[in-house]
Amino acid sequence: CNGKLGHVAPGSVSRFEEFAADDDKGRPMKKKLHVWCRRHDDLWESGQIKSNSGDKALVLLSDGSVLTVPTQDLLPANPQILDKVDDLAQLSYLNEPSVLHNLQYRYSQDNIYSKAGPVLLSVNPFKNVQLYGDDIVTAYRKKLLDSPHVYAIVDTAYNAMIADEVNQSIIISGESGAGKTETAKIAMQYLEALGGGGGGIETKVVQTSCILEAFGNAKTVRNNNSSRFGKLIEINFNAAGKIGGAKIQTFLLEKSRVVQLSQGERSYHIFYQLCSGVPSGLRGRLRLRSASEYHYLNQSECLQIPNIDDAQKFHNLMGALDSIRICKEDQEHAFEMLAAVLWLGNISFLVTDNQKHIEVVSDEAVTNAAGLMGCSEQDLILTMSTRRVRAGKDEVTKSLTLDQAIDTRDALAMFIYVSLFDWLVEQINLSLSTGKDNMGRSVSILDMYGFESLKKNSFEQFCINYADERLQHHFNQHLVKLEQEEYELDGIDWKRVDFEDNQDCVDLFEKTPIGFISILDELSNLPKATDLTFAAKLKHHFSTNRGFKGEIGGTFSIRHHAGEVLYETGKFLEKNRDPIHSEIIELLSSCTGRLPQSFAALLEQSKNLGGASAQSGMSVCKKQSVATKFKGQLFKLIQHLESTKQHFIRCIRPNNKQIPGAFEKDIALAQLRCCGILQVVRISKSGYPVRMTHQEFTRRYVSLLGETKDCQDPLSLSIAILQKFGIVPEMYLVGYTKLYFRKSQIDVLEDVRKQV
Ligand code: ATP
Ligand code: MG
Repeated sequence: CNGKLGHVAPGSVSRFEEFAADDDKGRPMKKKLHVWCRRHDDLWESGQIKSNSGDKALVLLSDGSVLTVPTQDLLPANPQILDKVDDLAQLSYLNEPSVLHNLQYRYSQDNIYSKAGPVLLSVNPFKNVQLYGDDIVTAYRKKLLDSPHVYAIVDTAYNAMIADEVNQSIIISGESGAGKTETAKIAMQYLEALGGGGGGIETKVVQTSCILEAFGNAKTVRNNNSSRFGKLIEINFNAAGKIGGAKIQTFLLEKSRVVQLSQGERSYHIFYQLCSGVPSGLRGRLRLRSASEYHYLNQSECLQIPNIDDAQKFHNLMGALDSIRICKEDQEHAFEMLAAVLWLGNISFLVTDNQKHIEVVSDEAVTNAAGLMGCSEQDLILTMSTRRVRAGKDEVTKSLTLDQAIDTRDALAMFIYVSLFDWLVEQINLSLSTGKDNMGRSVSILDMYGFESLKKNSFEQFCINYADERLQHHFNQHLVKLEQEEYELDGIDWKRVDFEDNQDCVDLFEKTPIGFISILDELSNLPKATDLTFAAKLKHHFSTNRGFKGEIGGTFSIRHHAGEVLYETGKFLEKNRDPIHSEIIELLSSCTGRLPQSFAALLEQSKNLGGASAQSGMSVCKKQSVATKFKGQLFKLIQHLESTKQHFIRCIRPNNKQIPGAFEKDIALAQLRCCGILQVVRISKSGYPVRMTHQEFTRRYVSLLGETKDCQDPLSLSIAILQKFGIVPEMYLVGYTKLYFRKSQIDVLEDVRKQV
């Protein structure tokens, strides 16, 4: 077999166009063919064609009834041999009902993992499944098991890292509650087993999840343990293939949750854990009450999570903090900061002076907050009720309105919380930092928040959905590229095809000077701009764009790849500026004695960020906008991923109620559709969807040949079988290692095999 094998890809039709279309439409529906019939409720039922008159067919349904169905409402079902396959790419007919049938069947057997071409699909079981643990890890390590699994993906990645000396990454995506964080932990478990013996560092890596989840996860309406930040964990290996260290990078924590909750949701777990689990001596020192007594926690009427013991979790957390060597003193200081945040939330204001100005109510909330922070009550009161404003060359002190005072109080609470989170991540990284013994190879695991479309979508969803759009773009690009590489590596003369993806939407966000982020930044720097002018400016620039719709009253919609989202611009500019008033920095600087040491260093950084800017003449520290900083982080992330060999895991949430066993087809389908999984499989199938190694093929069909010579190699045998059964050359490609068949060609051979 010299030079290029196989045949050139189908004619001039773009492969994408060919297979992005529903490729089963218009197929002749022969008698006896197994089909899917569309029901009135848009779900599909299986049946068999009894007769077909062109436009209509008589179909025998599985319950024994016979129906007349328009042929446009029929899709072919797969032959039984391909039923329940563990890779969707093996389906002859890749239509939605077949895919759903396959995934649902597998799910009902607790086979939550399936391949979708190059992607691992994981359908959340919402219960413990017998798929993990030491024995199964060993079975994958010894290659005794090869069914789709997170372990198999990590095993491939680890082995490729060692053999090819190339860094690897595992990119986990999916909607909220789909199982990304659990999947990341399962992946780490396997890496821990593979790369153990690194002096206990592997156990520390696993322990960090407990800390990050306590401080960065919360109960939302979709997920009782929803991550409200993105994270990339890079695990480094030494020359012996053992874990030498790790590094965690986090992305944009949702800080508004510290001060404001939607009905039925909670703030970060740590607050409830602290309130219920703190030992009594420390409870006194922290002046702690129960969670129900704090405004920041009780506003959403949701204090507990079913089946979760916050006190026990707090106990585990203290163990995890010990294990990463945060000393008891720093731990206590960190808890003081958390208690201070809670007391800050209880500070209230009295409106005086014709509703215009306020006074801080000097009660136990002020005393406790100031006591815990280590500042004077007077300084705290001043910070929350007045602001220095420049008037010409002079600086005058102005008292705040009620809204301004509440914003200042909340800004202080959020600033403390985010600084604490950053400080913790820094401590974790110090504790996991790599020794000298590393060979500089790593496996990174990305657990990034996915697409969100809530009842009310604000700046937070704008950022999250931008990240999702960026990663989806990356997913598309990469999977098409990979697919084409497989043909090329197997020696097939492959005509490269460009792939159309969500580039337009990504451009809407990123283009300069006229893109969402640029315009947001521009207006964030204009003292007189408001959220309404921002909405108006977007409308002005993008009204003719298909991906954008300006709506009434400061709202706008973006057509994301995963669906249209309506955003409310209220507080967009403020959240993007994320101003830190100099007064807040000064106040916090005055209490550094009480803060963990490195926490104080973070404050210093904020202090040095620059001089005052002119937003309403008030004195704030100028820094990069939130959206621009986030965009920069995402660019670096993509760059990092591209420097590695990438493996993709897509998590699917099978129902919205977080209950085990319920596979709701429409919910699963919406996710498969919006992340383009069917498209990826279609492209992966690429017109030659059924792939078998020469060995597999000969093993299955060699008996059809009758006599064979022993010396024949699998490739020659394969070709002999194909020729004998008249499979025309247009219907298959021959690679160095595999045969690639046009859809349903394998059925011809299967029919013959059954008759033998
Ligand atoms: P978010 O984007 O909100 O952070 P997520 O995709 O990270 O969501 P997870 O927190 O990983 O979702 O999963 C939600 C819940 O689903 C888990 O708390 C757990 O109860 C269950 N779950 C997920 N994966 C598994 C699994 N493999 N086995 C058992 N339960 C699981
Ligand atoms: Mg998560």
